[in-house]
Amino acid sequence: MNHLGFDREKIRIGSFDFTCCEGCQLQLANKESTLPEFLALLDIRNFREISSERLDDYDIALVEGSITRQDEVERLKAIRAQAKTLVAYGTCACFGGMNAQKNKFDKEECIRTVYGDKEIDTMQESHKISDFVQVDYSIPGCPVNKEEVERIVVSIATRSPISLPKYPVCVE
Ligand code: SF4
Repeated sequence: MNHLGFDREKIRIGSFDFTCCEGCQLQLANKESTLPEFLALLDIRNFREISSERLDDYDIALVEGSITRQDEVERLKAIRAQAKTLVAYGTCACFGGMNAQKNKFDKEECIRTVYGDKEIDTMQESHKISDFVQVDYSIPGCPVNKEEVERIVVSIATRSPISLPKYPVCVE
């Protein structure tokens, strides 16, 4: 067991994207000044923007993007089953994000407008991930604030008290 109380040297982490622009993952990957320090604490098992590893054993799953297809539901549930802690990050994952704008419109009309005659497998609505699985922590933002994600992930990894973001209702 290491000095952080884990039975392995580093906490294992995966980041998974669903329907989204992947801007939140990029925020983390582009954090060059603190990325080495952040990665030193973590064993990256699956994080497309950072690593070529595609491993299915991880402790923390970061999930980005909204759910818009049935196959995404099954994939999300498998990720949840594997992860000890699941973090929704980005407004798409937390609330449905930009993709949820289509929820106000007829599905067939949306498909015709965007894809023409092409057949597209999509749900009627875009969903936040908590519609399908239990979410342990949510970090909204479009994109997320990378310092905030790093701070929260490090707190989870080190089992320190977590200070979740608070946003004012009104800003002066
Ligand atoms: Fe992209 Fe914004 Fe969704 Fe992040 S929350 S994946 S930046 S659209």
